[in-house]
Amino acid sequence: MQTELQQKNNAHHFQPFSDNKTLAEKGPRIITKAEGVYFYDSAGNKFLDGMAGLWCVNIGYGRKELCDAAAEQMRELPYYNLFFQTTTTPATELAAKIASLAPDHMNKVFFTGSGSEANDTNFRMVRRYWDLKGKPDKKIFISRKNAYHGSTVAAASLGGMGYMHEQGDLPIEGIVHIDQPYWFGEGDGLSPEEFGIKAAQSLEAKILEIGEDKIGAFIAEPFQGAGGVIIPPATYWPEIKRILAKYDILFILDEVISGFGRTGEWFAAQTFDLKPDLMTIAKGLSSGYVPIGGVIVSDKVAQVLIEEGGDFNHGFTYSGHPVAAKVALTNINILDEEGIIKQVKAESSPYLQKRWQELADHPIVGEARGLGMVAAIELVRDKVTKERLEPESKGGGVCRDFAINNGLVMRPCGDTMIISPPLVINEKEIDELIEKAKITLDQTAAHYQI
Ligand code: PLP
Repeated sequence: MQTELQQKNNAHHFQPFSDNKTLAEKGPRIITKAEGVYFYDSAGNKFLDGMAGLWCVNIGYGRKELCDAAAEQMRELPYYNLFFQTTTTPATELAAKIASLAPDHMNKVFFTGSGSEANDTNFRMVRRYWDLKGKPDKKIFISRKNAYHGSTVAAASLGGMGYMHEQGDLPIEGIVHIDQPYWFGEGDGLSPEEFGIKAAQSLEAKILEIGEDKIGAFIAEPFQGAGGVIIPPATYWPEIKRILAKYDILFILDEVISGFGRTGEWFAAQTFDLKPDLMTIAKGLSSGYVPIGGVIVSDKVAQVLIEEGGDFNHGFTYSGHPVAAKVALTNINILDEEGIIKQVKAESSPYLQKRWQELADHPIVGEARGLGMVAAIELVRDKVTKERLEPESKGGGVCRDFAINNGLVMRPCGDTMIISPPLVINEKEIDELIEKAKITLDQTAAHYQI
C-alpha cells in the first residue's frame, strides 16, 4: 500500500531519468533529511551516500553556514538580474573567487543555472568566437562516445549517450563523436599505455577526416563520470594535448563532476595538467545546496568575445542568482578555509583508493579503479573473459538494489558500479562503505550462483 505522498507523486510528478511506470508501481522512496555523509527516508532507513547526491554534495549535508548564507541573502536581496548593465555583490565576488582558484590563464566566469546550460553556453561561445575570428566554418564539435554533458538539446547532443540520442532525434547537426578511452571495455589486448595513445589518436583522425578548418572545439570530461568513471590511461591526455596544440581548435573541459575538489585539486585541469579554453562547472560549486553552474573563460577566448566582440546575446534569468552565488561562495570558502581539498589529496583519497582496491579480489569484479574521491568496479561473471553477469547490463541494477538494502548508495552505469562520496567522508565511514560494498558483492555473486 502506497502512502498518500507516493500516490500524489504518481499522479502529478513526471520525474527525470526515471522509468515513471515502474516508479509508480513501486512508489518512490521519499528522502526526508540528511546529515554529513548520510541521508534518511520516510520509513526511517539510513543510507551512506556513496554518490554525494548526484556527484555534488562535496561538502557533505547539513552545513548550517550555507543555510544562513541563503537566508541572509534572501532577506537582503533575493533576486536581481544581470542583464541591465547590473551586477550583485555575490555574483561578482563569486566570479573573482573562482578565477583565483582556476588555472592562471582563466579569469572570467559566465554564470548559468546548471551544467547543461553551461555546456549550451559553451556551444554558443565557441561559434561566436569563430565568427568573430572570421572563420565561421569552424562550427563542428568533436566529443566522445559515452560522454555526459547534460540534458538540454545542445548538451545532450554534445554528450555521447546512445540512449539519449534515441529520443528527440539527437545529436543536432555539427556534433561528432570519437572513441572513449575505456581500456577495460575496449582495450582489445593492448596495454593501457598503448590503448591511451590509440584512443587519443582517434581525435587526430577525426580532425583530418573533417578538416581542421571546420572544427570549432573538442569537448571532454577529465574522466568520464556518468559513462562509468572512465579514467584515461596515463598516456591519453599528453597525446590529446599534443594534438590540440597542433591544430587550431578550442578545448572545452567539462569539470561539472571533477571541479571543486573531487580529484584532490580544485580542478582536474590541475590534476592532469590541462590548459582548456573553456571550462564547465556546476554541482560541487555549491555542493548541490542550490542550482548554479557556469563557464570559466580563458583570457584567449575572453579577449575575442568581450574585447573584440562586445555583445553576447545569451544568458539566463538565473545567471549569477544572488542567493545561489552567495551559497556557492560560502561553500567554496569552507572548502578552502577548512582545507577539505588538501585533506582529500593527502589523506582521505589515498585511504579510499587503497581500501577500494580490496574489491578487485572479489570473484565478480573484473577491475577496481579510482582517482581522488571517485571509484568504479567492473562487474563480471568471468574475470578472464570479462563476460558480464547478465546480458543488457542488468547486473548493475541487481547490485544497486542489494547495495540500497544494505544502506549504501552505489550507482550502476551499465555493468560498472560507481561511487563518488562527499569529500568530507572520514576513515570510519570509508570502512563502512567498503564493508557494505563487500557484502553487496557477495549477495550479487550468490544471486548469480557464482
Ligand atoms: N556535465 C557533466 C560531466 C555532468 O556529469 C553533468 C551532470 O551530471 C552535466 C554536465 C549536466 O549538469 P546538470 O545536470 O547540472 O545540467
